[in-house]
Amino acid sequence: MTPMNTPLAQSAHDSEEAKSLEDSSLPIRSRKRKSGAIGLGRAIGSYGFALLSIAIALSSTLLLQRFFPYPFLFFAAVMASAWFGGMAPGLFAVVISTIAVDYFFIPPFHSLAVNATDGSYFAAFVASALVASWVSSSRRETEEALKDARDQLEARVAQRTAELQKSNEGLQERERQLRLLTEVIPQQIWSAAPNGFVDYCNQRLLDYVGRSIAEMQGARFMETIHSEDLENFRESWHRALSTGKQLEGQWRVRGADGHYRTFFTRAVALEGVGGETVRWYATNTDIEEREKAERALLQTQAEVAHLSQALTIGELTASIAHEVDQPLTAIVTYGDACLEWLSANPPNVEEARQAAKRVVQDGTRAGTILNRIRALFKKESPAKQLFDINDLIRDLAVFVREQALRQGIAMRMELPSGLPKVRADRVQLEQVVLNLVMNAMDAMRDQTSAPKEVVISSRRESQTNILIIVEDSGPGLNPEIAEKIFSPFFTTKPQGTGMGLSISRSIVESHGGRLWSVPRPSGGGIFQFTIPISS
Ligand code: ADP
Repeated sequence: MTPMNTPLAQSAHDSEEAKSLEDSSLPIRSRKRKSGAIGLGRAIGSYGFALLSIAIALSSTLLLQRFFPYPFLFFAAVMASAWFGGMAPGLFAVVISTIAVDYFFIPPFHSLAVNATDGSYFAAFVASALVASWVSSSRRETEEALKDARDQLEARVAQRTAELQKSNEGLQERERQLRLLTEVIPQQIWSAAPNGFVDYCNQRLLDYVGRSIAEMQGARFMETIHSEDLENFRESWHRALSTGKQLEGQWRVRGADGHYRTFFTRAVALEGVGGETVRWYATNTDIEEREKAERALLQTQAEVAHLSQALTIGELTASIAHEVDQPLTAIVTYGDACLEWLSANPPNVEEARQAAKRVVQDGTRAGTILNRIRALFKKESPAKQLFDINDLIRDLAVFVREQALRQGIAMRMELPSGLPKVRADRVQLEQVVLNLVMNAMDAMRDQTSAPKEVVISSRRESQTNILIIVEDSGPGLNPEIAEKIFSPFFTTKPQGTGMGLSISRSIVESHGGRLWSVPRPSGGGIFQFTIPISS
């Protein structure tokens, strides 16, 4: 790098340039005044020139006197002296010419005296010489003033041009840096005219969509937005354009590879001094990963809830098998009996009818059980429906009765008739009651001493709620863990998931109810929940 290229040298260079510019803008007159030595030289030159002109005029007139006796050449010498030297050398030339003309050409010759007859001629010459000198010098002055003015104007124009060029360079540099900034920041940037015509996209955005700027301008910008999100984008954009308020929203944008990613867009209006929109500037932020994480979280939550449900149901498989096996055995037994009654001689039709009736009853029961199982395993959430909560409890009791019997647990239900119906998701409430009953039975699994009982009851708690209570005669809840049991993944069982109570509580609360536990006064635990009556 040469010294002139360093910023310091550059600034020195700049200031010299500025100084020379300043000098060039000085009026020519003041520049003349500055140089005294030049002035003296010029004066000697002017007077010398005047003398020389007169000498040439004199010698020429003397030479040509025989053919042309008038001393007109002296006027030319006076005018030339005044032109080149100005007023003083002009007057000087007039004086010398007057002396020369008087001496050589006005009688008496070779004398400075003037004959009375030639007085007017002499006076006319002097007056004409004076006029010639004056006209010539003032014309010269006017011309010089004009030249001065022109020079000054030119200097000013040159100075302004240099200034403009400098500020133009500064502007270009700033614009270059701004553009560079939009290209290096890790954001997709676009901007649009006040009417919404997109006319700029930074390279990052163009690279993502794999298009040129021409393919992204105006309405073509919309081609990259997912068809399902397009209406939303259009509406939001038009709203922003008509109100001047910022645009915010998220939509899927197609990348160069043909895949869509979700972007969050924010566009703001740049306002002019009068408050009018001058331009729109916008950024697109890639939120695909965040969206994916959120979707994955929701999916996991759903899976966990379903897993927990499936696990609880899994534990009931044996009992379900027994429940289904029992009506099937009964159907076969009563079917056989029916055949026997019919093949007797004479056939006992009445007994056969009774046996066939039991076949139908047990068949219906088996069907109900299977329907319950299917409902419990259904993944999609069924719509809320109106039903009697006591019916739900009775249906569930069918599932757990066998298991309770095997564990030596007495199962009791206290279900008053005439309870108002509830409007709820039946499958979810079955899940809640099942969890509570299974937990109650689990609590007494290792209990050897009697009594071992589970009581399921329901009653109207208030004008608005029904209370469902599941009691057991197990060890009850240790106060230390009483609050923790509703937390997800808290379990004291080797095979437990710790999700049952947590999910149950969220199901109940989503129905506008409450689930909690209290110690049973006679020993054991009470788990109960409210559910609003359908209005
Ligand atoms: P888990 O699947 O482990 O049983 P839950 O959320 O259903 O998960 O229950 C959490 C814990 O609450 C159980 O591990 C148990 O310690 C306690 N618990 C639940 N119900 C009872 C009950 N009726 N009696 C005593 N403890 C209970």
